[in-house]
Formats: sequence, C-alpha cells, structure tokens
Amino acid sequence: MNSAGIYIHIPFCKQICNYCDYHTTEKREAEIPRFVEMLLREIELTAIKFNHKWQFDSIYLGGGSPTLLSLKELEIILKILRDKFSLFKNPEITLEINPGENTLNELKSLKGLGINRLSLGFQSLDSKLLKILTRAHNQGDCVTLYENSRNAGFENISIDMLYNIPRQSVEGWLNDLKTVVKMQPEHIALYSLSAEKGTPFYTDIQNGHLSFPSVAVENEMYREGSSYLRDCGFTHYEVSHFAKREKESVHNLHYWQRDPYLAFGPSAHGFDGEKRYWNVSSLAKYIKLISQNKSPIQGSEILTDENIDNEIIMNGLRTNLGISTSFLENIDDKSIEKWDGYLDRGNGSLLLKPEFFNFADEIASDLIGEEKSATI
Ligand code: SF4
Repeated sequence: MNSAGIYIHIPFCKQICNYCDYHTTEKREAEIPRFVEMLLREIELTAIKFNHKWQFDSIYLGGGSPTLLSLKELEIILKILRDKFSLFKNPEITLEINPGENTLNELKSLKGLGINRLSLGFQSLDSKLLKILTRAHNQGDCVTLYENSRNAGFENISIDMLYNIPRQSVEGWLNDLKTVVKMQPEHIALYSLSAEKGTPFYTDIQNGHLSFPSVAVENEMYREGSSYLRDCGFTHYEVSHFAKREKESVHNLHYWQRDPYLAFGPSAHGFDGEKRYWNVSSLAKYIKLISQNKSPIQGSEILTDENIDNEIIMNGLRTNLGISTSFLENIDDKSIEKWDGYLDRGNGSLLLKPEFFNFADEIASDLIGEEKSATI
C-alpha cells in the first residue's frame, strides 16, 4: 500500500502581493461559501472514482490564504477527507498562515480541528523589505504569530523566508535568520525571490524601478544562510528546506519521493504514480465546471520512461535522499566523474553534498544530458 498526500488549494487572499504568481484572488471573500461547496463536491466526485489502495499520511492546506475560510469551513473540508479516504491515525496536517491575520483563540481552534503543523509566511523581518514585497505585516506580527502558535499548542512550526529581495544585504539576511533560529522553529524554508512574468514586481524589475542584488550576492545569501542553519543543527534535506531531527515535511517528501498525491482546488497539481494532472487555474471556471458535475482537471501528462528517469535524477540531487546506486547504470560514468568533488556516496545512494545544493539543477541537467546521449 502506497502512502500518499492530499493538497488543497484555497485561492483567496486579503490582498495580492506584488511578486506572487500563484493562482489566487483578492477581495472576493464573498465567494468563499460557493467555493467551499464546489471543493467538497470535487472531493466527493474524486472519492467515487477512487480505486487506489493508498493511505494518506499528509494533508496540506495551501494557497492563497487558507485561514480566510471560517473554522467551520475548514472543519467540514477535513471531515470529508477523513470520511472519504483512508487516512493514517495521525496524519501530518499543515496549514499555511500569514502573520497578522489570526488571533490566539483562532489558532487554538485550528489546533482543535486536528491541524498539527503550521507554515508561517514571514518572508522577511525587515519592515522596509516587507514594504517592497507589498506584504501587509511587520516584524511584530511575525513574533506574535509565532508566540501565539506555540501558546496554542503547535509543536511543529515551519517558517518561510525570502532572500534576493531588492535592497536586501547579506548582513541583514543573516540577522533575520539569527532571529528566526532563536525562536526555535522545527523547520525553515529559504526561497530566492524571482520576478515572474505578469506580476507588478516583474514590471518594476523590467523598467528599473527595482533591481535584484547581484548574482554573487544572491549566491552568498544562499551559501551563508544554508551553512548557518546547518551549523545550528538543522538537516539540510532539500535545496530550500531545513528541518530539526525527524521534522522533515512528510507532505513535501511525497513530492520528492515521487509518491502519489491528490490535489483539489483551482490550479492544484496531482500525481497518481503514473500521470501528472492539473486543475483549471481560474476560480470562475472551477466553480462552473464542478457545478455542472464536470471534472475541473484541465490537463494531464503520462510520464515516459525518460521523464521518470529525469525526475529521479533531479529529485535525487535536490534532496538528501540521493540517487540510488542501482540507478546509476543509467548515467554515464564520465558525467558523474566530472562532478566528483561535489558528490558523496553513502547509504546506497549518490548524494550531492549540501554545500553544493545550489548547483543541483546544473548538475542534474548535465547528468540527464549525458544519460540521454548514452541511451540513444
Ligand atoms: S499572501 Fe501568499 S498567496 Fe497570497 S498573494 Fe501574498 S504571496 Fe501570494
């Protein structure tokens, strides 16, 4: 029996941040009840056709800002998942949450629903940088959210931080990380800010109103930040993810181990072990399709053997799971030798040394390219 995950995409935010290219909406809270009705129907329609022997050990409520839903709405979503699918006794249930949006009592109620892991979207602790990101919160909101989360009884907290923000310095970045580490979260994720086409932030970068730090500074932020977290006892288990002992994200590990996961909500992506599929990226279309009892799946792709091999190499190098040595016969020895100083062998796997994780994509492309030519 496969262990599997469930992802739920909640496409509502109070306001859209200038750099965000996720599918979300702002100031459309009035549509939440109808969305929830359709989401429940999507889950129900999927459950009717569901014929896998998977058992689910993770649920991830992301978005968007899932806490814009009422407690009652979150409760009925979790209830239908428990009723319709076979869940582990204590699945990891993660909720994404923004600073400044929830009270201590609300956090206690969320805990009461069985949510046992929070992902806090701090992004930065520097008010000037948060302003550039058009985030509505400040450092005080981050501290309050963290303290309230602990006081509400959450024992598994992850914090998201962004680097490569215009006007951010290496020193400021490392100071922020020190403050975050002092809070003692179980998990930290570091992401490099990028300018995604179609966002106001992209326009600001294009017309020169804002500019990124240099590539050298971006690399230094990643290198120094990662090294600091490793020195503080975090396991660097994926390019962007750091966890205290046994606090790796069960849900994210499903992605990287190529386990199956169900996905619900507009723009959500799922995987059934052979096929990747994705829902329409429009709240209006999503609601319309489901209200007609039609599937919101917009497209799918059955993975070829080559796709699967490429994913194994990519995921193996981007994580401390590595590439199983039994798989290495598919890769040209010379391309592995070329990166010898960057790689380690252990536990039956070929691993990228964590200090070189920022080269993971480059090395993976190289191994994939060599592999292709070797198999032609
Ligand atoms: S809160 Fe998160 S999901 Fe919502 S707009 Fe900002 S970055 Fe995007």
